[in-house]
Amino acid sequence: MNQMKTVPTLNNDMVLTNGDRYLLTPGPLTTSIRTRQAMLRDWGSWDCDFNTITHDIRRQLLDMADADDTEYVCVPMQGSGTFSVEAALSSATARSGKTLMLMNGAYGKRAATIMQYLGREIVTIDMGDYLPPSPEEVASTLDADLDITSVFVVHCETSSGILNPLRQIAEVVKSRQRVLIVDAMSSFGAVPLSVKEIPCDVIVSSANKCIEGVPGFGFVIIRRELLDTARGASHSLSLDLHEQWQYMERTGQWRFTPPTHTVVAFYEALLQHREEGGVAGRQARYTRNRDVLVSGMRALGFKTLLEDKWLSPIITTFLSPKHPNFAFKAFYDALKQCGFIIYPGKLTEAESFRIGCIGHIDDSVIHQLLDHVEESLTTMGVNSCEP
Ligand SMILES: *Cc1c(COP(=O)(O)O)cnc(C)c1O
Repeated sequence: MNQMKTVPTLNNDMVLTNGDRYLLTPGPLTTSIRTRQAMLRDWGSWDCDFNTITHDIRRQLLDMADADDTEYVCVPMQGSGTFSVEAALSSATARSGKTLMLMNGAYGKRAATIMQYLGREIVTIDMGDYLPPSPEEVASTLDADLDITSVFVVHCETSSGILNPLRQIAEVVKSRQRVLIVDAMSSFGAVPLSVKEIPCDVIVSSANKCIEGVPGFGFVIIRRELLDTARGASHSLSLDLHEQWQYMERTGQWRFTPPTHTVVAFYEALLQHREEGGVAGRQARYTRNRDVLVSGMRALGFKTLLEDKWLSPIITTFLSPKHPNFAFKAFYDALKQCGFIIYPGKLTEAESFRIGCIGHIDDSVIHQLLDHVEESLTTMGVNSCEP
């Protein structure tokens, strides 16, 4: 993998064009002009030029996961990220299997709900809103229940921003010879995930997160052997990952209409990802965004939900000030007026909001945001940000 020593800044194609806003959210994200311009042509879904692009994207994504194509395959799937999570779960878990679902936020819960829809047996470890799953508890659960065939975990739980201890969990699961399914939706491309170092059988992500494409498809990187045995495992015609794979291998085409413009935009986004220094380069820029954001917000008196050691370079949750003049809606609208879209919180207990560090933005954008946050607080008459 390409190692970057210096923190890259983006050259200034980041200036907003009329009416554009910076999306400081978990996705869709701010994209570059180059990525958007790639969508100005129409493509035939059967045409070999388009199919070459699909083929190349699949290969590049395997490379990004450090996965050999003798061992792993990459299968793209139409729809938002959840469609790919559902496709992965229904193909990577047997109908007669039992899956341990690790939950610590909305996306872990959603995956458990998918399993209920599928009628597949699950057991859960639910850590609530913001605590990481414990590798020791995973180990003892697997040791106590030999019927468990697979484990599901979210890498970065985007509802709080926590970066879960994937490496330790992966080692526990591997040493007990179970299948590990990772929702790496919001981390893939910006947090290193080499299957040679962190043993995963299935990784799921999508076009519109850290690779900075536009929405329209997701992808599943999955152990070849596992997908090979998944014929007929899916509950769904359109989300059948095994069928999508087989059809793509046979014809080079997507099984049903592909999101052609999204695919070519993603191809262009991948090129920019490489130019920036790959995963290491992107991680460096997002980490700097996060550091400037967190220290700037703390200087204004805000508190983060998480302790520093769990903060991801993806998105940060801040606790809402308890000052009577603070209202999220007014705060949101004031920032929107200045061109910045932030995100509401997703916690069941505390009042909170989230600010994303991902997308085609650098720390100059975060500095501008911080100035506007300060102005908005003054306008609202909030002089303390204590939660
Ligand atoms: C964004 C995201 C998803 C998928 O959400 P969609 O709205 O279906 O794209 C799944 N898991 C995580 C952790 C995410 O951040």
